[in-house]
Amino acid sequence: METKVQPIPASKHIALVAHDGKKAALRAWCQAHQAILEQHTLYATGTTGHVIERDTGLTVHKLLSGPMGGDQQIGAKIAEHEIHMLIFFWDPLASQPHDPDVKALLRLAAVWNIPVACNEATADMLLSSQLMDKEIDRHLPDYDKYLATRMG
Ligand code: PGA
Repeated sequence: METKVQPIPASKHIALVAHDGKKAALRAWCQAHQAILEQHTLYATGTTGHVIERDTGLTVHKLLSGPMGGDQQIGAKIAEHEIHMLIFFWDPLASQPHDPDVKALLRLAAVWNIPVACNEATADMLLSSQLMDKEIDRHLPDYDKYLATRMG
C-alpha cells in the first residue's frame, strides 16, 4: 500500500501500559519524567492508569484493564490517530492470558508508524529526543488512495 505523510503533533497523546511484573518500573519511570509527561495527554489501560494517577498525581485517561479489552481500545485509538506514542512495559518473563491482544497492539503500533518503547532504556531515549516537543511527520498507509484504486 502506498503511504502518505501525516504529522504527529507537538503535544502528543501517549499511551502507558505495564504488565503486573512491570508496573513498579513504569511508575518509577513516570515519576522520573513527570515534568515532561505533564506537557502531553496520557492514556493507560485500567490498572496501570490507576497506579500512575495514585502515585504521581498525573492525569490519565483510563481505559479498560488490558486483559478485559484495554489493549484493544488503545490499538483502536492508534488506528484512529488519537494516540501518537506507546510506552508498553510488557513482561518478557511472564505469560499473559491476553497475549493475542498484546501482539495485536504492537502490530497496530507498527502499522500506523508511531514511536514505541517496550523497556525503560528505550522510553528514556524517546522522552529525551528533541522531537518530543515538536510536530513530526510520519508516513502511514494511504488507505483512501488504496480504496480509490481498488474501487475505480
Ligand atoms: P492493566 O493492563 O493496566 O489493566 O493491568 C495492562 C495489560 O496487561 O495489558
